[in-house]
Amino acid sequence: MSESREHAIVIGGSMAGLLAARVLSDHFDRVTLVERDRFPDTVASRPGLGQARHLHVFWSRGLEIAEQLFPGLEEELRVAGVPEVRIPADLLWMTPAGWRRRFDSTRLMTFSRDLLDWTVRSRLAKLGDLQVLDGHEAVDLVAENGTVTGLTIRERGTTEPGETLTADLIIDATGRSSKTPEWLEKLGYPAARRTLIDPLLGYASRTYAIPAGFDPGWKALYLQARAPGTRTGALFPQEGGRWIVSLFGVGRDFPPTDEEGFLEFAKSLRSPVLYEAIREAEPLTPILSYRRTSNVRHHYERMSRWPKRLMAMGDSLCAFNPLYGQGMSVAAKSALTLDDCLRGDGDLDGLARRFHRRVVKNAAGPWLVATGEDLRYATTEGASAGLQTRILNRYVDRVQALANIDQRVCDRLISVLSLHAQPQSLFMPDVLWRAATMRARQPIGPDELSP
Ligand SMILES: Cc1cc2nc3c(=O)[nH]c(=O)nc-3n(C[C@H](O)[C@H](O)[C@H](O)COP(=O)(O)OP(=O)(O)OC[C@H]3O[C@@H](n4cnc5c(N)ncnc54)[C@H](O)[C@@H]3O)c2cc1C
Repeated sequence: MSESREHAIVIGGSMAGLLAARVLSDHFDRVTLVERDRFPDTVASRPGLGQARHLHVFWSRGLEIAEQLFPGLEEELRVAGVPEVRIPADLLWMTPAGWRRRFDSTRLMTFSRDLLDWTVRSRLAKLGDLQVLDGHEAVDLVAENGTVTGLTIRERGTTEPGETLTADLIIDATGRSSKTPEWLEKLGYPAARRTLIDPLLGYASRTYAIPAGFDPGWKALYLQARAPGTRTGALFPQEGGRWIVSLFGVGRDFPPTDEEGFLEFAKSLRSPVLYEAIREAEPLTPILSYRRTSNVRHHYERMSRWPKRLMAMGDSLCAFNPLYGQGMSVAAKSALTLDDCLRGDGDLDGLARRFHRRVVKNAAGPWLVATGEDLRYATTEGASAGLQTRILNRYVDRVQALANIDQRVCDRLISVLSLHAQPQSLFMPDVLWRAATMRARQPIGPDELSP
């Protein structure tokens, strides 16, 4: 390798940025992570990660990759008291097609997002070649002759112009508030095409203490809306003997953040089980809302001109409606793609094109899952369901119903949701045949749901 791989910069110290920094440390002499927030010294929230106060599911493919990059991570989380939930064996799951039988298809470690980030950050801090510049915000890119050569940063809270760091590669992992579109424009590049599909989804979440002796035969609840119904609710255990409860409403049916409204919303879900669990439970936090949940794709891979040595990763490239829990796992898969691209033939000048194309391919399945569901709602902005989507959704309805009673189909569906398989695997002959020949069946009642 003749080109210099002396210094790489990652902007943004959330999941995409942390995993990118870990991968880059194998390929560059030095890596600098620039994060606008000051990282807390303990497991605590921070302003740039507001979504951490809401339910975060790290599907198994994502966690596997994180474990590969930080061996022993899962054990550390377990030692920190993270519970494990078998899906759906430990989960009462009201799907759009009714209750799902409690097969044992996969396992989730159900940690708080703050614990996950803190654990990953602590592991990263042990890498000798990594410098963390937290409390610093990226302000501008520096480019010469079509190549990005540096980044201007300044201490948060100051208005001084700040210092410029030179680098051989810069990765933007600043999420939905990425300045890359603005920076490209400043550097004289045409605006990249953007696709935005907005289900107008709102979250409201709160944590509760799990009541002493609580043992109803389930550990978690997931009560999904059935379109055109708009309301979903979830309850999952977390470390510290807590439940995280998130309520979700599509099409501006936002769950309220006052006590009474929150409980009323919970009561209005398709089963009263979540309401009944929380109505007497002790709340540990206020009720917080979150509404920045649209699906957004920046089509950087299609740009005819792109500044060399600049890349976008994670939500800054492609963000999903978070209801399906895919963002962190897509970021993890992108970290592996980054590693692969850096190991392969080809120089840093062509890296962004190779990387963006492959990431977009990897994100196509999760994009289809999220937007396909969102397009069931006439209120979704940015696109409407064409014939193809409507036919696809009809088929998905059948697969959902079948997965409620057939373990093999349940396993396949969950392997798609957990990013082990592409949605196309739901069209393999075995599932296709079962879905085509499925007979209408009485819905399963909750009394049939013993584990
Ligand atoms: C409500 C909600 C629930 C979600 N639930 C799930 C889930 O269950 N499962 C899942 O996999 N995903 C979920 N996601 C998505 C997940 O949070 C993201 O996909 C994941 O964090 C990866 O995002 P990211 O690292 O690209 O960006 P982000 O997480 O948005 O982080 C961007 C980082 O960049 C920093 N930053 C921003 N601007 C600058 C700047 N100029 N200079 C320096 N630093 C800057 C920010 O402070 C922040 O730390 C959810 C998202 C939301 C909103």
